[in-house]
Amino acid sequence: MKITAIIPAAGGGERFGEKKQLKLLNGRPLIFHTIQPFIKSELINEIIVVLPKDDVNQMARELKSTLTSKKIKVVPGGETRQQSVNNGLINSDKESELICIHDGVRPFVTSTLIQKVIKASVGHDGAILALPSSDTIKKVMEDQILETLPRETIWRAQTPQVFQKPALEEAIQIAIDENLEGTDEASILEKIGYQIGFIEGSPLNIKITTKEDWIFAKAIYKDLND
Ligand code: C5P
Repeated sequence: MKITAIIPAAGGGERFGEKKQLKLLNGRPLIFHTIQPFIKSELINEIIVVLPKDDVNQMARELKSTLTSKKIKVVPGGETRQQSVNNGLINSDKESELICIHDGVRPFVTSTLIQKVIKASVGHDGAILALPSSDTIKKVMEDQILETLPRETIWRAQTPQVFQKPALEEAIQIAIDENLEGTDEASILEKIGYQIGFIEGSPLNIKITTKEDWIFAKAIYKDLND
């Protein structure tokens, strides 16, 4: 079975203040670290990195210098994450049956996590990694708490998220037609009734969103490479 990894990394870095996917971590752009486990994983046949339009050419050159026989494509993204994923999807191998989507700004994914989520997708339309919540979660409105949600039923979604390709294509098309915007791909498949499984991810598989996250990223990198 052919599996394509799509790595959306075309965000403008508004919250962070710069394009964090290109910020150097130990001398290499962050995106370079993110794709290594996909290069290593024997389950992944093709990698599509989605980058801001202006960075496509330079990054394509830099990624070509990565020593691998695996197909790596670099394509431009869109205004929204969904458009970026869709552009990756359009450019994926026609023979791919599963699509594995992973945030470009989660550099500590491992080939074991990739394998785990692919395995969890068997018997479902897709599967995601998620973490149980150790915090108590409140539903709020303005400056007031509305209710406390039962913690046992709350899981925090991570990526990779793996989907049957036709299901993902349908969900993204519906989202585009109906102007729906999901913060992850699973949410749009859930909305139209697809069955998405989940399996426990890793607390180290953090998403770098803010400057504070960069502090954690440097610490994790150091600890993993000491
Ligand atoms: O915005 P968010 O934190 O959800 O971004 C998650 C991933 O989606 C990041 O790797 C970001 O670069 C990517 N993204 C994208 N195209 C956009 C917006 C975000 O590929 N237009």
